[in-house]
Amino acid sequence: MLVVGAGPSGLFSAVELARHGVRSRLVERAVRPHRQARATALQPATLEILSQAEVLDKILAASEHLGFARVFDLNLRPLAEMAFAGSGCQWEYQCSLPQWHTERILTERLLALGGGVERGLAAVSVEPRDDGVLVTLKRADGTVERSEASWVIGAGGAHSVTRASMAEELAGQTYPGTALAADVRVSCGLPRDGSALIAGAEGYVMLAPLPDKRWVAFVGDLDQREVDLLAHDRSVGAVAECVERRVGPGLQVVDVAWAAPFRMHRRLVARLAGDRRFLLGDAGHLSSPFGGEGLNSGLHDAHNLAWKLALDLRGRSHPGLLASFESERLEANRHVLEVSERLHQLAHDAVESARTGVRPPPPTPAQVAALVRSRSMLDVSYADSSLVGEYVGPGHGAAPLPGPGDRYPGRTALAGTNHHLLLFGGADDAGVTRLRERWRGLVDVADGTTEPEHAGLDSSAAVLVRPDGYIGFRAVPADAAGIEALDAHLASYLVPA
Ligand SMILES: Cc1cc2nc3c(=O)[nH]c(=O)nc-3n(C[C@H](O)[C@H](O)[C@H](O)COP(=O)(O)OP(=O)(O)OC[C@H]3O[C@@H](n4cnc5c(N)ncnc54)[C@H](O)[C@@H]3O)c2cc1C
Repeated sequence: MLVVGAGPSGLFSAVELARHGVRSRLVERAVRPHRQARATALQPATLEILSQAEVLDKILAASEHLGFARVFDLNLRPLAEMAFAGSGCQWEYQCSLPQWHTERILTERLLALGGGVERGLAAVSVEPRDDGVLVTLKRADGTVERSEASWVIGAGGAHSVTRASMAEELAGQTYPGTALAADVRVSCGLPRDGSALIAGAEGYVMLAPLPDKRWVAFVGDLDQREVDLLAHDRSVGAVAECVERRVGPGLQVVDVAWAAPFRMHRRLVARLAGDRRFLLGDAGHLSSPFGGEGLNSGLHDAHNLAWKLALDLRGRSHPGLLASFESERLEANRHVLEVSERLHQLAHDAVESARTGVRPPPPTPAQVAALVRSRSMLDVSYADSSLVGEYVGPGHGAAPLPGPGDRYPGRTALAGTNHHLLLFGGADDAGVTRLRERWRGLVDVADGTTEPEHAGLDSSAAVLVRPDGYIGFRAVPADAAGIEALDAHLASYLVPA
């Protein structure tokens, strides 16, 4: 198993594989880790999967916790506020942390699990063979190694060599204009418990607190003169000039640790898998940073793939399990692009509103709640996946949400890497005993009523939670027919003991 690229997606992929008992080789072109803030937001749903990977404590300790997203006018008076509270997650805030810190924490976890990163080693070609993949690796000193891998996980970012080998295109659009991302210290009275979008007629600046009293700043729609200036000058003066032109002197940049002009994209490949190769993260999709989901969605790709690959390698799954990675993550990443697009548009609407003086009608509470869940990434659902099913017995109506395909709200309390079968309110004992035997080593059976989350079920029901914490199957009631349907569902993609 070879993972190309030790950015967040590749690192988390190696961590997750190791957690599921699979050793992988992780190669990284860069000789040394970078020290750039880049993508700083870790969303609530991502905190859940980081908790499953046992790195959350370090992330929580190192990061700022942002419970709000606010819009301000040029006098830094709040115009609108969106709270993460009520989103239905144990951590109802974003963690804000420079990307290099996130990568450092993931690297430490990988080392603790017995893995590591081979640095100064670039994959220069990836060629599928009959029963594996031949990868040519080039060291920083120019020496070349040929490596046979059973599978290749392409996590090499936007210019992925794995994607090129699949002749896949990141299809979509590049947003007009160039933006500036910077890790700065600013003097301002903005609250540090949330992000701040400051919009004026000249454009916007978005700020989010970082540890050590720093901020990550986005400056939108640079003009050509600013692009030319920043091409050779990323000093405090140059960054301050771009910021102050948009928001005036109320916000003063006093220090710049890192600054980079960049283009924003909305792009997705048509295939995330092919001939023993997978694409994760930026290798497969690019979204506007306004969503703050680019890095996050790469972690969710890795989380979705690892348990499937591990079961395949153990010979405990049918091909449909691994195939579901592509269909599930393509759909989820399409949703990420839509949410990011909506947030990108809201920022530009705020500028338009500052220009025209016309304020759009405020969103309804229901619209705000839906947006909070979307940007928290808690609304990802695999309901249309072939790995998801439901049994509803005669005389039983629709059970409450969350339903099959949705995230199980109590997933972080479910220990280990197996499927979990949670039983609520009485089940067919003989059927459960048979099922427990048949799926030994793959499915842990537990009394769901002792779980902190009951999935809203008080009467007889069985809920199968997949290793990634999504509901794979629900039987209502958990009678003989319901348990039999659940068994047939498991047999559609797993191999019994
Ligand atoms: C300058 C900059 C600013 C950004 N700002 C933001 C932001 O403000 N907000 C936001 O949401 N996102 C931002 N991003 C994007 C965000 O960083 C990515 O979404 C995220 O890093 C994706 O993680 P990844 O692991 O998929 O890819 P990457 O982080 O790109 O990691 C890919 C890794 O693979 C390595 N690699 C590439 N090719 C090879 C090869 N052939 N062999 C071996 N190794 C290879 C690279 O060196 C790199 O370490 C920014 C990116 C950059 C570069």
